[in-house]
Amino acid sequence: MSRVLALGNITLEGTSVSTLETCVAVRELNLCFDIGKGPRYAAGMDNVLLTHAHQDHAVGIALHIATRKLLDLAPPNIYLPAQICEDMRNLISAWERLERRKTRYNLIPVRPGERYDMRKGLFFKAFPTEHTIPSMGFQVFEERKKLRPEYIGLDGPAIVELKSKGIEITDTVEIPMVTFVGDSTITPLDRFPEMLKSQVVILECTFLAPEDLPMARKKHHTHIAEIVERAELLKDCEYLVLSHFSTRYTREDVHREAAAALPESLKKKTKILY
Ligand SMILES: [Zn+2]
Ligand SMILES: [Zn+2]
Repeated sequence: MSRVLALGNITLEGTSVSTLETCVAVRELNLCFDIGKGPRYAAGMDNVLLTHAHQDHAVGIALHIATRKLLDLAPPNIYLPAQICEDMRNLISAWERLERRKTRYNLIPVRPGERYDMRKGLFFKAFPTEHTIPSMGFQVFEERKKLRPEYIGLDGPAIVELKSKGIEITDTVEIPMVTFVGDSTITPLDRFPEMLKSQVVILECTFLAPEDLPMARKKHHTHIAEIVERAELLKDCEYLVLSHFSTRYTREDVHREAAAALPESLKKKTKILY
């Protein structure tokens, strides 16, 4: 079951429950973070940004490729940590042999810090996260042209004249749209605070109950208390999406624990994604 969250000019559709399935599509950006079991709502996304290869995040990759072929859509671009690229290719090849058919896809190995262009004006950078297997998080940017301050207020003919003289009247600005951390301890938030300046920040929050803090540390996941401690770091995002809750909690537990733990500054911008 998926859920739709409308967050300003960003729409998330997806699901994220620990050990069951994680796949979050962002329609406006033509991408999904992780592919879960290859759900139908993600089929239209040209780009898959894969954080790591735990099955609940990655098992649907071959199905996603096959579904897109069936729907006559372009081969998907699958971005993933460079060190798991070969194993993933072998896995997809095994499915091709099992099903006696060839599929088309682009596997793109990703290294932290580098820039990857998905289309004109849309790119992402990855950052390392800390989990039990190779993993990374993603920050997606839009690039827009903005009139330089000294030219604001000029009329059309004046702008045309400047352009005809070859004068550059715009600056290119990078707008951080969405950050998806994926499964991780809390430490990337401290190491890469700039990734928390996106309009939408999606964090894993596997554990909520106060007594489960040691479990979060042991399993390389995040506890809500660790997010609360970093409320100041999260002041710039417009929306904070908490996800990937453990199956040990009911939905009522999640809402109750989140309401009890979050300070007012976070509560008003927090959305819950199952
Ligand atoms: Zn997970
Ligand atoms: Zn995981």
